[in-house]
Amino acid sequence: MMKSFQAYFFDMDGTLFDSMPHHSQAWETVMRRHGLDFTAYDCYLNEGRTGQDVIHEAIWTKEHREASEEEIWSIYNEKTEEFHRLGGAKPIPGVKDLLELLVSQGTQVWIVTGSGQQTLFDTLDESFPGIFTRKYMITALDVVHGKPHPEPYLRAWERCGLPKEECCVIENAPLGIQSGKAAGLFTIGVNTGILRPEDLLRAGADHVYNNMAALREAIIEAF
Ligand code: MG
Repeated sequence: MMKSFQAYFFDMDGTLFDSMPHHSQAWETVMRRHGLDFTAYDCYLNEGRTGQDVIHEAIWTKEHREASEEEIWSIYNEKTEEFHRLGGAKPIPGVKDLLELLVSQGTQVWIVTGSGQQTLFDTLDESFPGIFTRKYMITALDVVHGKPHPEPYLRAWERCGLPKEECCVIENAPLGIQSGKAAGLFTIGVNTGILRPEDLLRAGADHVYNNMAALREAIIEAF
């Protein structure tokens, strides 16, 4: 059963913003251009890994050789360009209502993301005015190890000043769920994309919801 928590740690891509369709489309386009196999489903399964890692493995799988730094960066830059060409992402349906509910209950809401883009912070303020502050964010700039390593969620927990039992991770991706669980935190998967719920349960999620509205209902009932 869902209980109520004093702090929620939200992932960003695919949890706050519906950016995964653009990420997966950009990856598919660029990988195909280079004769590499990497489907949209692969993209969702691997969400959270660095672009460099993803390219390295795709080249290894296809050509059984080490990729050079140069080709990794060149492919990665193409992907970034393609991603930006596709335009900005909208908030995930229902997440704004959920955030407003939590804030109205006096709950801490944090962002824990592998992204480190400065533009991200402006977008956050436009889409979720008054919800997030820089103080309540763990980004790529705050950690040495990204997800699935526990470090990002451990940083958030250390800074929030609450016991672990009062903190809850909200994630959409298997590697993010692994990160939350490895940090010793209650971790909820919200299946906002094309994965099967089993993909999130297998990663260790304590609960999986199909959308943000269902999670919001569960939180209201638990409060
Ligand atoms: Mg995500």
